Amino acid sequence: MCERLAGAPVASAINESGKADVAALAARGVTPKLAIARFGEREDDVAYERAAVKRCETVGVLTQCVSLPGSTEGMLEVIDALNADPSVHGILLFRPLPKSIDETAVCERVSVEKDVDGITSRSLTGVFTGRGEGFAPCTAQACVEVLDHYGIQTEGRRAVIVGRSLVVGKPAAMLLLARNATVTLCHKSTADLRAECRGAEILIVAAGQMGLIGESCLTPEQYVIDVGIHVAADGSMRGDVAVDYAAAPVRGITPVPGGVGTVTTSLLVRNTVTAAMRALQ
Ligand code: NAD
Repeated sequence: MCERLAGAPVASAINESGKADVAALAARGVTPKLAIARFGEREDDVAYERAAVKRCETVGVLTQCVSLPGSTEGMLEVIDALNADPSVHGILLFRPLPKSIDETAVCERVSVEKDVDGITSRSLTGVFTGRGEGFAPCTAQACVEVLDHYGIQTEGRRAVIVGRSLVVGKPAAMLLLARNATVTLCHKSTADLRAECRGAEILIVAAGQMGLIGESCLTPEQYVIDVGIHVAADGSMRGDVAVDYAAAPVRGITPVPGGVGTVTTSLLVRNTVTAAMRALQ
């Protein structure tokens, strides 16, 4: 019987501990605030912003939605102002930015203390060195959080990650390595993806290709985290793994929708609360 590794209970546990931390901060006169910086009106960004604002409200975190101007200089000024504002504890910056913008410069301008979605190289250095500066990207964190919540041991286990982006694959690999898993990273040039996947006890799929991983890549011993999010031709949401989630031939799997994506927003909020606590120290 395949265990459904649903995101909602994980998110709910994170939110509850966030509420307790918000109450402790309130006692010291601080209310955490997340600034959400968005350029334009991309449908995905607007939807994610709405979800983030709602999640912040649930936990008691304030939000400040900022509309970014269309020039690199203008965006840098906005980021500088948010960095300098002591009432702002976290900054979420939607990407990709338009091609005319120096995206690297804008991302790197976010102060590491407020980089709650791990987009700066200083945050990533923290993830890679284990020094704990900044935060890991929320999606990579979400993968590990799901494993922890369902008591899935990582120590000594073979973990295979499909996808090596800086947003998911690489930081997830480092987080699992820090938990003593033996990690393999697969990508577009991996010679035998099926064999690599079948060797995994923990399989994280973040390739951005709908249905890339079929049943022939899976084994009954595995736990599978499906990070992919796609809208199929019939309007339904699908992942990178093409299985019937209720009857997948694995030990456990995160469904799409209702899996990793649900956890990501809660982690963004938790990181903002943590940033506010760190600012007090
Ligand atoms: P990306 O395009 O930046 O990276 C994809 C990676 O997958 C690359 O390293 C590439 O080499 C690898 N890849 C692509 N095709 C492959 C193949 N056929 N075989 C092996 N490797 C292959 O994507 P990303 O930003 O890392 O996102 C990955 C997926 O996760 C997307 O579907 C995205 O929508 C989803 N995502 C979900 C959340 C969430 O909150 N659930 C957040 C971010 C991204």
